[in-house]
Amino acid sequence: MIKITKRTVCRLCDSPELELGCHIHGTPVAEKYGATRAEARCVPDSPLDLYRCRDCGHVQLLDLVEAGFLFDEHYTYRSGQTEAIIRHFQEYAKEAWEKWGLQRGDLVVEIGSNDGTLLKEFQKLGAKVLGVDPASTIAAEAVAAGVETIVAFFDEKVAAKIKASHGEAKLVVANNVFAHSDNLQTIAAGVSDLLRADGVFMFEVSYLQDVLEKCLLGTIFHEHFSYHAVTPLARFMRRNAMEIVDVKRVGIQGGSIIVSAKKAGAPYAVDKGVAAILRAESESQLNTLGRLQDFERMLRKLCDETKAFVEKAKNEGKTFGGFGAARSGTTLIAQLGIADDIDFILDNHPDKVGRFSAGYGIEVLPVSSLAERPVDYLFVFAWVHAKNIIAANPGFVAGGGKWITCVPKLEVTG
Ligand SMILES: [Zn+2]
Repeated sequence: MIKITKRTVCRLCDSPELELGCHIHGTPVAEKYGATRAEARCVPDSPLDLYRCRDCGHVQLLDLVEAGFLFDEHYTYRSGQTEAIIRHFQEYAKEAWEKWGLQRGDLVVEIGSNDGTLLKEFQKLGAKVLGVDPASTIAAEAVAAGVETIVAFFDEKVAAKIKASHGEAKLVVANNVFAHSDNLQTIAAGVSDLLRADGVFMFEVSYLQDVLEKCLLGTIFHEHFSYHAVTPLARFMRRNAMEIVDVKRVGIQGGSIIVSAKKAGAPYAVDKGVAAILRAESESQLNTLGRLQDFERMLRKLCDETKAFVEKAKNEGKTFGGFGAARSGTTLIAQLGIADDIDFILDNHPDKVGRFSAGYGIEVLPVSSLAERPVDYLFVFAWVHAKNIIAANPGFVAGGGKWITCVPKLEVTG
């Protein structure tokens, strides 16, 4: 049994004034690939509805799957795995170093440091580094690679301990974590306390504007509690004695923002882009109920179109597979209602091959098996990499197959 609790106050401002903004169909916790079909099918659907705070506008999940179930030893995501991410981190570290005037020996702390890929880049530049991550297996890999890592969920207590043992930090970094934590208040308070007077907090999160505009369905999953926009965040930072000084939009995860907040009073000017992005959010009514309702309508339309397409093709005897055992695939399958139509999922990831997808028990096969088990259509579940996947597998189309991408709209190519 998975325990699900319902949050009753906003993550950013503690207001109890919360309203349902967009219904998302219940979905199995996507990372729970099972060793057998039966085991995989035991993972139940859990709610994924998007709620909105009437006071600060923050968009968030309120139904919480217990943390021990979400982030256990089977948690397979490792940031160092793709070259694109490593390159992104190299640039990220270099830019942060120059922008905030870091010097050799300065302490850089990363919350949710994963396998230490980003901290290694800061280490190369001469920083002292310390990681904090709750996943013990991955943290051990980071330590083995020379990145000191504390196994913990970062909070005010952990921050106080770090301050006592390592001193104050010039830079605290939290990538993705800041959307993946239920208790943002204790993280922000801890960060604020840990920072030097001239310290900066940088975090990267999916951007609500991109999620809604591009229908980034794959970014909506149970570990992703918060769907951030700058307006509610600015207020939240002020509440924790920090001020947003820079916001940069980047393409990662289909659309994210890198937000930098200085300790209140630190000697950095606020970038002009901050006011511009706040204005754009206001003009596009980003954090309003109407915008979320529009998103739900778009989702339903996408679902109806996909189902109609699949049904027609099935009646003609066509077969379907999926490409990419990414977390986003499970959310897509659930929203589109196509679990029974997918014969297998192709992926070469060693942690996924031979396993079965959470909730639906769809087998994961290596990409090479497509030769023995051809299908008429392949859904691109790893939608972020759609172009590369299609380009890297020309044999599928040459053999008569067609690709289906459904984010942000249904497209059949081949
Ligand atoms: Zn709020």
